[in-house]
Amino acid sequence: MQTVDKIYINGEFVTPHGTETFELLSPVNRKLLGKVILADATDAQRAIAAAKEAFASFRFTTREERIEYLERIAKAVSFHKQELIDVMVLEYGAPQQFATASFLNAVGAIRANISLLQEYSFSRKIGTSTVIQTPVGVAGIITPWNASNSFICSKLSTAIAAGCTAVIKPSEFSALQTQVISQCLHEAGLPKGVVNIVTGLGTVVGEEITLHPDVAKISFTGSTATGKTIAKNAAETMKRITLELGGKSPNIILNDADLPDVIKLSVTAAFMNSGQACIAASRLLVPEERLEEIKPLLREAVSQFKVGDPRNSDTSIGPLLNEKQYNKVQDYIRSGMEEGAEILTGGLGKPEGLEDGNFVKPTVFIHVSNTMRIAREEIFGPVLSVITYRNEEEAVSIANDTKYGLAAYIQGRDAEKAKGIAARIDAGRVSVNSLSHDPNVPFGGFKQSGIGREYGVYGLESYLEPKAILE
Ligand code: NAD
Repeated sequence: MQTVDKIYINGEFVTPHGTETFELLSPVNRKLLGKVILADATDAQRAIAAAKEAFASFRFTTREERIEYLERIAKAVSFHKQELIDVMVLEYGAPQQFATASFLNAVGAIRANISLLQEYSFSRKIGTSTVIQTPVGVAGIITPWNASNSFICSKLSTAIAAGCTAVIKPSEFSALQTQVISQCLHEAGLPKGVVNIVTGLGTVVGEEITLHPDVAKISFTGSTATGKTIAKNAAETMKRITLELGGKSPNIILNDADLPDVIKLSVTAAFMNSGQACIAASRLLVPEERLEEIKPLLREAVSQFKVGDPRNSDTSIGPLLNEKQYNKVQDYIRSGMEEGAEILTGGLGKPEGLEDGNFVKPTVFIHVSNTMRIAREEIFGPVLSVITYRNEEEAVSIANDTKYGLAAYIQGRDAEKAKGIAARIDAGRVSVNSLSHDPNVPFGGFKQSGIGREYGVYGLESYLEPKAILE
């Protein structure tokens, strides 16, 4: 059992002023993993004051200095690779493969920001005037539990590239992972106060950061419900906001798709991180006339996804984060059954032999209508809804009939045609015949999936204020 009793402020590990504690339970067997002493609003204020003081000089650092700091962060994070992967598996029950991908995304994002910084122009001429891009100020970075360290690395490296300082509020459910990433950032040896990390409750530390007048920008990843609260609170002091929120991503299988391969990829896209991913392809749209052909392929593909202990390298689906998530997913499975969808594979209850943890049977529903709750709400578990369409027009219309618009997927042999359909989908990222990730291109949501974009130039400019100098 570990005790997390330090937060990171002004270059030092310090004892929080807060006294409330939080217990972390293993998702595999619900045994006690650790105890966290939660930071409180006073701790958040100390962290903000340190970041504000550091900003006064950090805003004037040169491009070369910032590149050097980012190099040091990339080196420290890479040095702790195995520890970062192991703690993610331990704390969330993330399958090894996902934890490794998450680590690679973290380092990839830092490296992408280094490359961007090497070429980005912070000044441009428009007519006889000059427009310069200046760092916005102290950034409040608030992250969710599902890939915490990857979000911290991508957001923080963008803030530093822009010349901002940061106060990070990770999820209370990632306290053990936060300990490791805090150590990495400490080893990187940034100037004091440039990065501060305060683990506490969203309603306490998160709200203090969002309401505080000395924080200029919030970069948040999490649920749409919390995103709305943050947007309202941040409006009080007119903060710049980037919100990366939930999703209910469609995956359209076109009539000409190569079925067995495409079905395998589709199940992977739906069940990544045991379904606990904002970009999970949780609505599978298939041509009506091919459903019968698709059914056995889906059953077969799901049976290849081994559910079990996330520490085993052949496990594809681990447990869900906690009992609350487990019960929530069970409720969704029940609602699908009650609303008339048919279970093709999986269903209620736990897989045999895995009764001690938060394990869910990977479940596929067929005969789902896009009006059912399982098709409209983000489940955050391994539950896939198959919806049939009669023609491409209808496929596009079903895909867009959602309040979300984060990611979408299209599978088809004719790539040009698939790209034509991609252009008609209301989502920030559409993957055609692929599951690849690119930290240079913008990522973010249409509609209630968010505001703003991360990564690449779009991400960097969200931490910059353009200033026009007229002559
Ligand atoms: P959450 O919204 O419950 O919490 C996210 C973070 O916000 C946590 O650190 C939490 O403590 C904090 N928070 C909670 N209330 C707050 C408040 N009032 N003010 C300030 N901060 C507050 O989300 P979660 O359960 O940790 O993560 C799962 C959700 O995140 C899912 O909806 C998922 O889709 C979304 N997500 C989105 C992306 C994306 O890039 N779009 C990526 C991963 C996860």
